[in-house]
Amino acid sequence: MVNSVFGAAGTSIFESMSRLAAETGAINLGQGFPEGFVPAALVEAAISALRDGPHQYPPMMGLPVLRQAVADNAKRFFNLDIDWQREVLVTSGATEALADTFLALLETGDEVILFEPVYDAYATLIRRAGGVVVPVRLLPPHWDLPQDALQNAITSKTKLIVVNTPMNPIGKIFSPEELRFLGELAVKHDLTIVSDEVYEHLVFDGRPFHSLFAVDGIRDRVVRIGSAGKSFSVTGWKVGYVTASPKLLEPIARAHQYVTFTTPPALQAAVATGLNLPDNYFLDLRRQLAERRDLLVDGLRDAGFEVADAPATYFVVADISTLDTAGDDLAFCRRLTLEAGVTPVPISSFYGSRDVRSHVRFCFAKKAETLVNAVERLALWRQGHAVKVAS
Ligand code: PMP
Ligand code: GLN
Repeated sequence: MVNSVFGAAGTSIFESMSRLAAETGAINLGQGFPEGFVPAALVEAAISALRDGPHQYPPMMGLPVLRQAVADNAKRFFNLDIDWQREVLVTSGATEALADTFLALLETGDEVILFEPVYDAYATLIRRAGGVVVPVRLLPPHWDLPQDALQNAITSKTKLIVVNTPMNPIGKIFSPEELRFLGELAVKHDLTIVSDEVYEHLVFDGRPFHSLFAVDGIRDRVVRIGSAGKSFSVTGWKVGYVTASPKLLEPIARAHQYVTFTTPPALQAAVATGLNLPDNYFLDLRRQLAERRDLLVDGLRDAGFEVADAPATYFVVADISTLDTAGDDLAFCRRLTLEAGVTPVPISSFYGSRDVRSHVRFCFAKKAETLVNAVERLALWRQGHAVKVAS
C-alpha cells in the first residue's frame, strides 16, 4: 500500500530524542541545532527583503546575488574557482540538495558507497532513488578511513561515493591524503563523489578545511553541497546550495525543478548577505564554537566520560563503555535524559546495523549558560545525586 522505503522508516533519532528532552525538561544536547550565534545582519537582511519583496517564485536556479555569493565565499575561504552562472544551484536546505542529487544521478540498482557513522537522511534518500547502499565503516577510537575496505566495496555497479567532511557525528576533517585517495579511486573507477560540506566553516583551532572540489583532476566528478543553516546558525531556514560542473549540475537542477522548484526569496537574499560578511564573522563563529566545545569537553571529562578531540562541526562524541555496562547506547541516552536531565544521541543510530553502541554524541553549539548547567547536572549525576529537572 505504501512505498517500502518510507513505509519502513521510523521517526528520526533527532526528533525522538528532542521530544523526550522536551517532555522531561532535560537539556537537549542531542539534535544538532545551535542556540544563539545568529548574525544580526542576516536577520536584518531577511526583514528588509520581506518588507520590500519580491514575494513570488524566484528563478529556479536561485537568486543571482546568492549564487554569486556562494562562488565568492568559496573563492575567499577555500580558493575554489566556480562559475556562479553555470555551476551553482540554490536548494531548500542541504537535505533537498542531497535528494535532488540522488534522484538525478542514480538508476535503479546503482551502488552508492557511504561512510558510517552517517547522517541518517543519506541511506533512505538513496534507496528511495533506487540506489543500493554499500556502507564502509569508520570505527572508534581513531575513525580512520579504511582504505582496503573501501577499495573492496567498489564493484562494477558502483556509481557514487558520498563523503561528509567535516563529518557528522564524529567531527572528522578528511585529510588531504584521504581526499586524494578518494579522488584516485573516482578516476580509476569512473565514479562521482557527492561531498556534503555543510560544516565547512565550523573548523577549530586554526585547522584548515579542504574541499573535495579542490582535489586535482576530479573537479568535474564532484557535487559539493553547503548549507546556510550551519554557516549562519539558522537551521530552520533551510537554504542550501549545490556546486558542480554543468554536466552534473544540469540534471540535479532538473530534479530540483520538480522537487521544490525554488526556495523563499527573502531568505536567499539574506543568506547572500551572510556569505558576503567580512572574514571576522566566520572567524568569530569558529572561536566562539571552540570555546563552547572546550566548556562541554572539560565538563564531560570531569564527569567521567572519555571524550575524543572535537576538531570541527557542532559535535563531540564520548565513549560510554565504562559508564554503560549494559552496552546499549540508546538506553543510556534515555537514562541520562531521565536521571541527569541531559540528552545526547546514540552513535548506533548512525550505523545501518546499529551495532556500534559504545559512544554517544553531544552538541556543543549552545549558550555558555546552557552548557554550564548541563555540565553541573552531569557532575551531580556522576556523584549519584538525582537531578531535579523543570518539566
Ligand atoms: N548533512 C549533514 C551532514 C547534516 O548534519 C545536516 C543537518 N544537520 C544536513 C546535511 C542537512 O542540512 P539542511 O538542514 O540544510 O537540510
Ligand atoms: N543534522 C542534525 C543532526 O545531526 C539534525 C537534523 C534533523 O533533525 N533532521 O543532529
